[in-house]
Amino acid sequence: MKNIAFLVVDFVNEFINGNVCSSRAKHCIKPAKELVSYAHKHKIPVIFVNDMHDKKDKELKIWGIHSLKNSNSSKIYKEIPVNKIDIIIPKHTYTGFYNTKLNSTLKKLKINTLVIFGLYLNICVKYTLVDAYLNGYKIYLAKDATDAFTKETYEQSSVEIKTITDAKFVSNKQLFKELEK
Ligand SMILES: [Zn+2]
Repeated sequence: MKNIAFLVVDFVNEFINGNVCSSRAKHCIKPAKELVSYAHKHKIPVIFVNDMHDKKDKELKIWGIHSLKNSNSSKIYKEIPVNKIDIIIPKHTYTGFYNTKLNSTLKKLKINTLVIFGLYLNICVKYTLVDAYLNGYKIYLAKDATDAFTKETYEQSSVEIKTITDAKFVSNKQLFKELEK
């Protein structure tokens, strides 16, 4: 499929084993690796949107210090294969679209479809996904590589996203089958 990119949200150390993490991130690692490797193999652009906070960022008052830029906690988790051509876009709040180069980067690449996954569905994945929807992108949510802080927030966020967007929730297997069409 042409005009597609994989958008990886906050797959950084902070959210896997840092101060703001959930044990529910662990099972997302293997499927996320599989997705990124698939994209590399099929020459699909991979864009990482990562929390890289300044100490003055607003949400730090709520969440405490986390994922500061130039720190180990804002680095992409070591098991995720990152290629030189992959694009890393820093973000300072919940959505990858707010005051970032994400939308202009996607326009430059002529992307109209996004496969979104990462951590966590109830916050950054949700806000990034809703903004992607509002900006006109067709969206697949790769559910094997995405989770929320708790089972309850996962279910609640899934219902919210399905109510207010037309994002299609797919397993890796379903996604790969869909992309072969
Ligand atoms: Zn943050």
